[in-house]
Amino acid sequence: MTEQVIDEGIADKPPFVGRKAQMFPRLTAAQIERLEVHGTHRQIHSGEILSEPGERHRPMLVVLSGSIEVVQRGIDAEVLVVVHTAGSFSGEMSTLQGVGGLVRSRVREDGEVLAIAEEHLRTIIQTDAELSELFMRAFILRRVGLIASQAGDVILLGSSNSAATLRLQQFLTRNAFPFVNLDVNSDQGVQALLARFHIKADEVPVVLCRGEVVLKNPSNEEVAACLGMNQQIDDDRVRDLIVVGAGPAGLAAAVYAASEGLDVLVLETGTPGGQAGSSSKIENYLGFPTGISGLALAGRARVQAQKFGAEIRTAYTAMRLHCGERPYVIELGRGTAVRARSIVIATGAEYRQLALENASRFLGTGIYYAATAIEARRCETKEVIVVGGGNSAGQAAVYLASRCRRVHLLVRAAGLADSMSHYLIRRIDESPNITLRVRTEITSLDGGEQLERVSWKTAPDNVLETHEIGHVFLMTGAVPSTHWLEGCIALNDKGFVRTGSDLTAADAPAAIQPVRLPQSLETNWPGIFAVGDVRCGSVKRVAAAVGEGSACVQQVHQALRD
Ligand SMILES: Cc1cc2nc3c(=O)[nH]c(=O)nc-3n(C[C@H](O)[C@H](O)[C@H](O)COP(=O)(O)OP(=O)(O)OC[C@H]3O[C@@H](n4cnc5c(N)ncnc54)[C@H](O)[C@@H]3O)c2cc1C
Repeated sequence: MTEQVIDEGIADKPPFVGRKAQMFPRLTAAQIERLEVHGTHRQIHSGEILSEPGERHRPMLVVLSGSIEVVQRGIDAEVLVVVHTAGSFSGEMSTLQGVGGLVRSRVREDGEVLAIAEEHLRTIIQTDAELSELFMRAFILRRVGLIASQAGDVILLGSSNSAATLRLQQFLTRNAFPFVNLDVNSDQGVQALLARFHIKADEVPVVLCRGEVVLKNPSNEEVAACLGMNQQIDDDRVRDLIVVGAGPAGLAAAVYAASEGLDVLVLETGTPGGQAGSSSKIENYLGFPTGISGLALAGRARVQAQKFGAEIRTAYTAMRLHCGERPYVIELGRGTAVRARSIVIATGAEYRQLALENASRFLGTGIYYAATAIEARRCETKEVIVVGGGNSAGQAAVYLASRCRRVHLLVRAAGLADSMSHYLIRRIDESPNITLRVRTEITSLDGGEQLERVSWKTAPDNVLETHEIGHVFLMTGAVPSTHWLEGCIALNDKGFVRTGSDLTAADAPAAIQPVRLPQSLETNWPGIFAVGDVRCGSVKRVAAAVGEGSACVQQVHQALRD
């Protein structure tokens, strides 16, 4: 590998120029003295590699003398991130999370460091308010800087017409993982990379993981494993609490439970954020008067949970719950299982599919279930269809209208008033490039590899129209993700979990002697709770999900005391 260290680090480039002092603060002598009890001194020697990308459980290093250079490894060259000198410290979010790092650290000049192990770093963050703020802000800004730098040794080679490429883009982006995205159809230099790594054109999408491992059309699990996104942990440990699902409800439960000292594991089949993560802008969540994207909200919540010590595993699916065993057992894929004394079910809901035979064929190649910047990039300046009459459809239509030529909003009902918030209806009315088509539904989809044509009919005369439109956003509601609970947890006729006063005496499991009535968010099994959209009778909103997730922790404590 040719070494081509450039002089400027990431903090010298826009948009971070004014934030260098926050991104790479210098600790005072008094602050370093406070850190002494948490770390050990060690000598460092010029040229010594202190950490490589992908390494887990690296200590944070406070430089006492000498210097350390941090670089992002590229395929052909290194890019300088920063040089830490006396008073500066290493690390970014992955240091706190104990997951695979993103950069290479190498000693530039001999000297001495104070090495602080991950568990001690977490103690400092939980107990020292001043240093907690300083470290957290620096770690978050550094991660954002690494993402924005568009450098690194994780490369996604794919086609902008491919569903698998979209899935991988979503997975990496929503996990806040820096990667270089190259389009095989338009980016220069792609052919050379394909040839160099012996990849045939029909094998894309490909993830070049750390510039060494070639993953051909990998699953999210394979990408997570290769990049060290999850901690390596001991599955024999019995947790206080396992939260299943890292949407707003699950993340809130994790924040409150971990901050109150419980040993918490969160399992997430996709990426943290849930349905909210697919929203371009949430405008009715308290405290964000100008709105916040679902991704940003989820990112903050995830960091907050991890700061308190919750362990979040992405690309892990709860396949089955075994209620009959104590501690409770959750079966995961690959023959593994995890155990806990209490469980919070926060698996929310999955998007409803279009009832057309070939709809799944165009998933990701013209049919989308989210309208964020990732999907919008594919249909910029084109005509698109949004299907649905709820708030998610309204938000998608308004957002896409700012990126696309025309948005056709298709609803089965005679209007929007019964299903959409007033503020969104007004925005739709005021957008010149949104056409509302009421009493209209899609009847067929056509195309080759990509969706090319859509037909719809409009009641009462069922007039049929066909349009050359290749992008359809389905925002038609969701069904609960509870298949993994069947035969164990009491559900209602639509599959939502029943809790508290929705349960009857007949729901009580025969195998146990109940010691008390179920609490309001408790299922028919003591110590198993349900929160957020998955719960029967819940209000399907971010704030409600967050509220239930937070509130259930008090009930978890009660169950753990029983
Ligand atoms: C596009 C869109 C826009 C929206 N906009 C707004 C808005 O502006 N304001 C508002 O208040 N609400 C909005 N909502 C609704 C809001 O997002 C939901 O009410 C909220 O996300 C529900 O949170 P939850 O945690 O209960 O479930 P979800 O968000 O559905 O999260 C559930 C999580 O569980 C995971 N999961 C599922 N099954 C498993 C399993 N077996 N193992 C492991 N993990 C699993 C899922 O991958 C998911 O991440 C919007 C919804 C959508 C789709």
